[in-house]
Amino acid sequence: MKKFIAAALIALAAFAALHSVPARACSPPAQPLEIYLTFDDGPTDSTTPKVLDVLKKENVRATFFVVGRQIKGREKILKRTAEEGHSIGIHTYSHRYDEIYADKAALLKDIEKCRGAIKKVLPDYNKNLYRFPGGSFLCPSLREAVTRAGYRYYDWNASAGDAEGRYTAKQLFENAIRTSEGKTTVILLMHDGVGYKNTVRALPEIIRRFKNEGYVFKTL
Ligand SMILES: [Zn+2]
Repeated sequence: MKKFIAAALIALAAFAALHSVPARACSPPAQPLEIYLTFDDGPTDSTTPKVLDVLKKENVRATFFVVGRQIKGREKILKRTAEEGHSIGIHTYSHRYDEIYADKAALLKDIEKCRGAIKKVLPDYNKNLYRFPGGSFLCPSLREAVTRAGYRYYDWNASAGDAEGRYTAKQLFENAIRTSEGKTTVILLMHDGVGYKNTVRALPEIIRRFKNEGYVFKTL
């Protein structure tokens, strides 16, 4: 009988221990939260330096998918981007959909031309990082060609919507947060092309929100 009571008590204690543990609200998330800020369509005189200023102030790194034909005359901006620890990826040389999406050969030629323009400024550039203009879903049949040529391409799973319409800075912030909701890894699409003033304005708030949520900023 004593044995039975002891066993029952142990079982009861184990049950109590198991159930007295508060809900896992305070334990760290099983998966780390990561965000990759990405900027397409630079370098530009009007936007890229301002984006770099914000990133510097907030002490975070991002990834810039650059347009090759815009590099001439903006070599300093591209150099600064690299020197400040950001990742530079190939976006396109011409950004002309009719040309680059004509066929496989045309796309690879455009990619190589963009790489050449980057290497003129950054001779050690050796990344195979690529983003399809408009996203790879515009031309899924070309994905394999790009991968076979040795490139890693990245689309995005969240967007500030800055290329989609005339949004205010507040709306861009809200778009970024809404489209990232519930995602442990966020690849956020933004732009540093000409005319993206509101992206620059929204950026500090976007960064702070993700910092507060516990996201770690990473580069591709
Ligand atoms: Zn683009």
